Amino acid sequence: MNAHLSRWRLDGQSALITGASRGIGLACARELAALGASPLLVARDEAQLNAACEEIAEDFPESEPRFFAADLSESEERLAVFDWVADLGAPLSLLVNNAGGNIKKPTLDYSGEDLHQLFELNLVAAFELCRLAHPQLAQHANAAIVNIGSVSGATHVRTGAPYGISKAALHQMTVNLACDWAEDGIRVNAVAPWYIRTQRTGPALSDPDYLDEVLQRTPMGRIGEPEEVAGAVAFLCLPASSYITGSVIAVDGGFLHYGF
Ligand code: NAD
Repeated sequence: MNAHLSRWRLDGQSALITGASRGIGLACARELAALGASPLLVARDEAQLNAACEEIAEDFPESEPRFFAADLSESEERLAVFDWVADLGAPLSLLVNNAGGNIKKPTLDYSGEDLHQLFELNLVAAFELCRLAHPQLAQHANAAIVNIGSVSGATHVRTGAPYGISKAALHQMTVNLACDWAEDGIRVNAVAPWYIRTQRTGPALSDPDYLDEVLQRTPMGRIGEPEEVAGAVAFLCLPASSYITGSVIAVDGGFLHYGF
């Protein structure tokens, strides 16, 4: 392959993708596999992970997808993921921190346990996985981390305050690690999606009045697809984006730019 084309390929790279059993995470695993990477899928549900791996293996047989079931909000399970990666003997060069969730309540109703659960998954897990991955990433010439943030990390979108706080912190973590680890050759970026069609957003978007309101506020006038997030994630993983670090790219149909 010529040098120009290889800037648009990820052949031989191992990519750990969290929350990869469905939705945006699965789309990222598929996209990275299509570009030649071997995806390592982590999520909680073993049966869903198995089905996701079978699907990827069928479409991209050379990508050798593998999976590990873990609850990433538990620190011991995060360590277990890295024991599994070490046993595979395929050092990581790419990490996509996608697993995340929300508990939506009025601000005064959040319990301490709600806050702990939400921040542990959306923020602490991502931070710890970056730190666990660092020694392996630092060994590779094209090492990249991509965090899945949200437009809610930049503006109010009725998600409940803690979710927005966690995503804003994830964006800031992206900026800090990008600067700290530039000397180690690790690029760190994030994407910030607006409404994307996944199982998680299905119930809210099935309300026609709510959907209409969302579309009115979206310049492109439609909901995004998981593959459209995955395209941006893949670009940030590729050698083609080798001078981009610390960026948070909105994947939002123009939502964040839409004033009046
Ligand atoms: P989803 O609920 O469809 O999928 C979430 C994935 O994360 C699943 O694979 C699930 O198993 C996994 N996961 C959840 N909790 C986990 C845990 N404790 N340990 C391990 N894995 C866990 O979600 P989605 O809509 O695909 O969203 C993915 C990411 O994108 C999230 O971080 C979300 O905040 C972010 N996001 C989504 C949207 C959207 O509109 N869908 C918009 C902005 C940001």
